[in-house]
Amino acid sequence: MDPSAIIASLLCLILSLITLGYLGVCAVSPFGPCRRCSGNGRGRTYRHCNRCDGTGRRIRIGRHLWNEIRREHRNGTQ
Ligand SMILES: [Zn+2]
Repeated sequence: MDPSAIIASLLCLILSLITLGYLGVCAVSPFGPCRRCSGNGRGRTYRHCNRCDGTGRRIRIGRHLWNEIRREHRNGTQ
C-alpha cells in the first residue's frame, strides 16, 4: 500500500467517525442552543427571538433532516 492510499483511508475513517459522532449527538440531544440569541431566547434588541421563538433552543440540522426523512417515509408507506 502506498502512503497516499493510507492517508486517504485514514481520512475516510476520521470523516466517518465525525459523522457517526454527530449522528449520536443528534440522537441524544436533538436541540442545540439558538445561534442568534445564544440560547437566552432574546434577540440583540432584547425582544422575543424569532428564530427560536423565544425558547433559546433550535433543532439540529441532522435531527431536522432525520425528521424530514421520517415524514417522507411515513407518507410513502401509508
Ligand atoms: Zn433564539
